[in-house]
Amino acid sequence: MMNDVRLSRHFTLAEFYNLQKYPANVPTTQQVANLTYGCLMLLEPARQEVAPIIVNSGFRNSRVNALVGGVKNSQHLLGQAADIRPKDPAQFQRLVSFLKTHALTDQLLTGNGWLHISWNPCALPRHFVRIGYYK
Ligand SMILES: [Zn+2]
Repeated sequence: MMNDVRLSRHFTLAEFYNLQKYPANVPTTQQVANLTYGCLMLLEPARQEVAPIIVNSGFRNSRVNALVGGVKNSQHLLGQAADIRPKDPAQFQRLVSFLKTHALTDQLLTGNGWLHISWNPCALPRHFVRIGYYK
């Protein structure tokens, strides 16, 4: 079953889409490749700092993105973003600090106990950081 696909040592595809809730939210091979890049380049290194990491949202097709109120050009549509938090809320700042300075961070938005991290395997990272973005 595709749900069991391991993207990297500690992350499986099932963590990045909610098939139980959204059965049609199936990523393409390209979108899975983008998720895998994020796992290997950002999430696994982050997990070495802070573990475990909970993934709230990863890939979203346009319908799911609209349902959750995502912006129209959301990188979640491409498999280039994840909304995550450390299981231990006390480790949140540590995770933010690590990702804020990571060379491959494209966009980092934080607030409300969560952070949005994005990446782009095909472009130079923008290093766009907004702390306290989510109220
Ligand atoms: Zn997000």
